[in-house]
Amino acid sequence: MSKTPKDTIITLPNPHLRQRSQKVGVITQQTHNYINQMVAATLDWEASRNHELGIALAAIQIDLKLRIIIIREDFEDKNNKNFTILINPVITKYEGDIVEDYEGCLSIKDIYGKVPRYNKVRVKATDINGEETRLSADGFIARVLQHEVDHTNGKLFIDHIKDSPKAFYHLDNDGQLTPLNYEQEIANSTILW
Ligand SMILES: [Zn+2]
Repeated sequence: MSKTPKDTIITLPNPHLRQRSQKVGVITQQTHNYINQMVAATLDWEASRNHELGIALAAIQIDLKLRIIIIREDFEDKNNKNFTILINPVITKYEGDIVEDYEGCLSIKDIYGKVPRYNKVRVKATDINGEETRLSADGFIARVLQHEVDHTNGKLFIDHIKDSPKAFYHLDNDGQLTPLNYEQEIANSTILW
């Protein structure tokens, strides 16, 4: 089978996912090319998955060690293929309650977790034109932002729940999440840690 954009996505146990990405300096045509590759990989991945949406991606997930994340403009509408681009994103404030909800990752196949995250965050970043942008988000988008900024620091959602065997789930073929048998399927595996 020939390679498609989604094949550029790296998955565990690739150690690059544990590395901190580097700050982007001047935004060049190359930066734009990288971002286009990220969008193409996310949409191609989505087209290959029956029950999942390609919501966001960090550059390290296509093996580019750069602090760039892309987030879907509209999580509800699969036909809206626009993404918000955030370069060098930093979470400047965590607010609200800590809430648990399901999370998956394009770099961790078929495993989901119930991950505690702050309900609200404020983020500072550079936009595609090199201008400073600030945003405040709550609920699901706040969760996505925390997940993606974690990627730029070499951290994955499973790292937040590694001491909580009951927080792990498996995505079945019919799109249902069922609890994972942690002892059997993960504890001794070299895939995740
Ligand atoms: Zn992820």
